[in-house]
Amino acid sequence: MASLERQLGPKGFTRDPLAMEPWLSDWRGRVHGKAAALLSPANVDEVQAIVQLAAEARVAIVPQGGNSSMVAGATPSAAGDALLLSLRRMNAIRSLSPEDNVAIAEAGVILSDLHEAAARIGRRFPLSLGAKGTARIGGLISTNAGGTQVLRFGTMRSLVVGIEAVLPSGERFDGLSALRKDNRGYDLRQLLVGAEGTLGVVTAASLRLVPAVGARAVAWVGLAGPPAALTLLRRLEAATGESIESFEAMPANALAAVLRNIPGTRAPLAGTHEWNILVEATAPVGAPDPVDALTGLLGAAQEDELIEDAVVAASEAQAEALWKLRESIAEAERVDGPAAKHDVSVPVSAVPDFLVEARAAVEKRFAGSRVLAFGHLGDGNIHFNVQPPVGADGAAWLESEGAAVNAFVHDFVGVRGGSLSAEHGIGQLKLAEFARTAGPVRLHALQAIKRALDPLGIMNPGKLVPPPA
Ligand SMILES: Cc1cc2nc3c(=O)[nH]c(=O)nc-3n(C[C@H](O)[C@H](O)[C@H](O)COP(=O)(O)OP(=O)(O)OC[C@H]3O[C@@H](n4cnc5c(N)ncnc54)[C@H](O)[C@@H]3O)c2cc1C
Repeated sequence: MASLERQLGPKGFTRDPLAMEPWLSDWRGRVHGKAAALLSPANVDEVQAIVQLAAEARVAIVPQGGNSSMVAGATPSAAGDALLLSLRRMNAIRSLSPEDNVAIAEAGVILSDLHEAAARIGRRFPLSLGAKGTARIGGLISTNAGGTQVLRFGTMRSLVVGIEAVLPSGERFDGLSALRKDNRGYDLRQLLVGAEGTLGVVTAASLRLVPAVGARAVAWVGLAGPPAALTLLRRLEAATGESIESFEAMPANALAAVLRNIPGTRAPLAGTHEWNILVEATAPVGAPDPVDALTGLLGAAQEDELIEDAVVAASEAQAEALWKLRESIAEAERVDGPAAKHDVSVPVSAVPDFLVEARAAVEKRFAGSRVLAFGHLGDGNIHFNVQPPVGADGAAWLESEGAAVNAFVHDFVGVRGGSLSAEHGIGQLKLAEFARTAGPVRLHALQAIKRALDPLGIMNPGKLVPPPA
């Protein structure tokens, strides 16, 4: 420990409880851990030195980016013997190449900073999510983050061109290439994407950029339910090709939670609707503004009684206000108190029935519980959250019913061919359920990969990989 303290200096090493405290709990405040020290290296050499020393001393490392994980993936255990390794100080954008359409960003770069840097060269990094002002590139890679543009550009996995990482052995993997094609066998880069810090520390990445948006149209739609929403999505796609980027679904109770809990928000439509959709369509520079096309298509959908009402943002400020409603749902739920949260996926065609059937089944089985389910409808990804009965002590309800609710929802998803983690990962909050439902083949393969790359088990233990039985 003393040699790490010497090597990293006061900016890179602390054991001060006050300085460490904000980083020892997860974003939702459900899990509280302890750490032997908080290390904040300034460069990849320091990361290497840390991992080498940790391997020699058999000390665990918990990598951390913005600490916005929804599954407490970056929170150390309560044992207090692990080193918390924050990548925050490694926040340089090393290069931006409009020729290659590639940015090289260090692990600690905040997502919105990368958005701004790409915009300055007429490009964009096409991944966005509610935590864009907090989440960092290393964390986004390590969770294979999704967000609101997956419909068109895929998850983080499809945007990572190359990776630089320090492996659990302390060796540096220099995979920061800008190559679009590279078929040299097993793909270490892709193994590290979504590994949740269990296979090494990501220190930088080369990331795919796409042309900047020339214009965008953002609309808010009120309609009766998910079947109409899915019909609308396919109709818009057929009419506009690739231009639909986001198609986010929110029931009336999700919008109500935002309006109740988030200052400065207001209802976008005159009446209330069972379901609301936020649609974004974009056009490249020089192409016709998509506002006219979207307005026309939504007008026709209203005439056909597919939708009940719609408004297309008339300015950037209005577009941002509509997006704020969608991106504030997680925060609004946090204000409302504890809930059993699920981040599930089913095939897109199964979403409408799933939403109706799962809600009815859960509310029947857990008397008084209230389902708040919203999400990325076009990706088949639903954040299916179950709130305690009105007036109940939320924490106590979660303590007594949470595990049963989780198992009920995950089994419901499982028999429909779905996944219990669409985009948030496994972390520690989903570990038991993952172990219960994954099946031996998947589990054995995961454990074999973990053993091969991290035989000492020092990288983020207790997350993602269930221990062998
Ligand atoms: C309001 C809100 C909205 C969100 N919306 C979405 C959404 O739409 N889609 C979505 O996918 N997620 C969403 N999330 C979850 C979260 O933002 C993502 O999981 C994000 O990718 C985490 O990034 P981070 O930098 O905060 O990582 P952290 O929380 O710090 O870490 C996440 C995991 O990655 C590991 N890790 C972090 N950095 C490194 C590194 N450099 N090397 C190796 N491992 C590392 C950690 O150990 C941990 O396991 C949301 C979260 C919030 C709070």
